[in-house]
Amino acid sequence: MFDGIGRRFEYLRLSLTDVCNFRCTYCLPDGYKKPCNRPAELSVGEVRRVVSAFARLGLWKVRLTGGEPTLRRDFDEVARSVAEIPGIRRVAMTTNGYRLAERAQAWRNAGISAINISVDSLDPARFAEITGHDRLREILKGIDAAQKANFDSIKLNAVLMRGVNDRELEAMVDFVSSRDLSLRFIEVMRTNDNAKFFAERHVAGQSVIDRLQALGWARLPRQPGAGPAVEFGHDQAKGRIGIIAPYSKDFCATCNRLRVSSLGKLHLCLFGDAGIDLRPLLQSDDDERDLIERICKLTSTKAPAHRLHQGNSGATPHLASIGG
Ligand code: SAM
Ligand code: SF4
Repeated sequence: MFDGIGRRFEYLRLSLTDVCNFRCTYCLPDGYKKPCNRPAELSVGEVRRVVSAFARLGLWKVRLTGGEPTLRRDFDEVARSVAEIPGIRRVAMTTNGYRLAERAQAWRNAGISAINISVDSLDPARFAEITGHDRLREILKGIDAAQKANFDSIKLNAVLMRGVNDRELEAMVDFVSSRDLSLRFIEVMRTNDNAKFFAERHVAGQSVIDRLQALGWARLPRQPGAGPAVEFGHDQAKGRIGIIAPYSKDFCATCNRLRVSSLGKLHLCLFGDAGIDLRPLLQSDDDERDLIERICKLTSTKAPAHRLHQGNSGATPHLASIGG
C-alpha cells in the first residue's frame, strides 16, 4: 500500500490501551487519569479484523504498544491472535518492562519475536525520578529474561533529556557493547501536554551521533521494514545503537508506518489531526471489503511531513494516548 507521494506502508503500530502504570516525565508526569465515559478498548475480535485488513493490504509487521500494553489481562491472547493472521511475519511489542522478568517467555511463546523495552537511565535513582517507579533492578532482570527467551530482536529505548540522562551516554554505550541488543536514543518529542518540558529538555540526536562517531561507531545500512532509527555499529561491540531524531531533515521521507489507537482510530501520523474512526467497520467479518477501501482512501491523503518545526504537534496530548 502506497500513499499519495509513493511511500510504501509495511508496518502497523497498534495501541492496545492508553492506560499506564508509570509516570514518565515526558509522557504522563501526573500518571494516567481515566476520562469519564471512556469507551472500551478494542476487543480481541476487533484487533483481529483490523490487523487482517492491513495484512491484506501488504503490511507485514505489527507493533503492540500503548499506554502500557501488558496491562491488558488478555495481552497474551491478543498477541497470539495477531501472530496467527496470514501475512503477518513479525509481531513486536513495546513495554516499560514492569512484568518482563516473569512474562518474557510467555510473550515469546505467544508469537512475539521483537521487543522494545524503555530504559531511560541505568542509574536507579534517576530511573525512579523519570518514571515514578524505583524498578530499574527488576527491569534489568527482565532484559536478561528476554535474552534467555530468545527474541529475534531486543531493543532498549532511551528518551534523551538535557540535564537528566544526556551525561549517561558512555555508560549506556558500555552496557550495549557487551550484549547482543540494540539501544535507541529517542529525541524527546513535543506533544500538546509537554511543551514546557520539551523546551527545557530537548537535545538534538545529532549531538549523540557526533559523540558516537568520535568513539569509533559507524553508520549501518537500513534494514527492510526498519523503524525510524539511524543505526550505528562498532567493530568491538556486540550491540548496536540507533538514533531516532524526528526533528532531523527528511525524517518523514522514509515513513513506512500507520497507527491504530486502542479505540480503533486510524492515525496517519503521530503528530496529525484527530484519528479517523474505523470501529464501525470492525464489528463483523462481512465488512472487510469496506474496511480495506476506507483504509486505502484515507492513507492516500497522508501528509508528506509533520509540522513539528512550526510548533504544531497535532492533536496528540501525549504519546500514551495513541501509542508511541
Ligand atoms: N509504555 C510503553 C513504554 O514506555 O515502552 C509503551 C508506550 S510508550 C508511549 C512508547 C515509547 O514512546 C517509549 O519508548 C517512550 O519512552 C516513548 N515516548 C513517550 N513519550 C515520548 C515523547 N514525548 N518523546 C519521545 N519519546 C516518547
Ligand atoms: Fe507509560 Fe510508556 Fe508513557 Fe512511560 S512512556 S508514561 S511507560 S506510556
